[in-house]
Amino acid sequence: MEKFLLHTCCAPCGIAIIDELKSKYDLTVFFYNPNIYPEEEYLKRKAEVIRVCEEFGVPMIDMDYEIDKWQEIVKGKEDEPEGGGRCPICFGLRLEKTAATAKDKGFEIFATTLTMGRNKKADIINPLGLAIGKKYGVKFFEEDWKKDGRQEKSAEFVKNKNIYRQNYCGCAYSWTVAE
Ligand code: SF4
Repeated sequence: MEKFLLHTCCAPCGIAIIDELKSKYDLTVFFYNPNIYPEEEYLKRKAEVIRVCEEFGVPMIDMDYEIDKWQEIVKGKEDEPEGGGRCPICFGLRLEKTAATAKDKGFEIFATTLTMGRNKKADIINPLGLAIGKKYGVKFFEEDWKKDGRQEKSAEFVKNKNIYRQNYCGCAYSWTVAE
């Protein structure tokens, strides 16, 4: 089976995808999300991804929480709305780290769960993934995960397994306090 590295942003976006890919590929989940704020939230989302991986028997690579690096690269874009100019930079950082790790560790394919998000446009994320894949010489698995009933499948998993689902994208600028 081909070695597949799946960047996973959170358990609700990842679970149906991990379930779909785990029998088709030699799958490893990759957790690199330095955009998430505050750290308590980062740890909460990561713990849920770990729980899913353990349950499905899929290994996970846990990267460092490089929030300072993330802050640095989005400097000047703090006031952009979600879906504006800050987001492609945020996607790019995470995709680049995934591709670099895939290359380094001998993975043949990499992908991201990001297009599962309702507000995450595949026509922004997929071209970025393809360009970064080309740069690193690793195949990018192009998909719009929100299609073909996967969002519904994900919602079912979240409900049945009582998985934590956040109410904001991730960064401090998208943060709304839960009611
Ligand atoms: S809104 Fe979401 S995708 Fe956009 S910069 Fe913030 S965390 Fe990244």
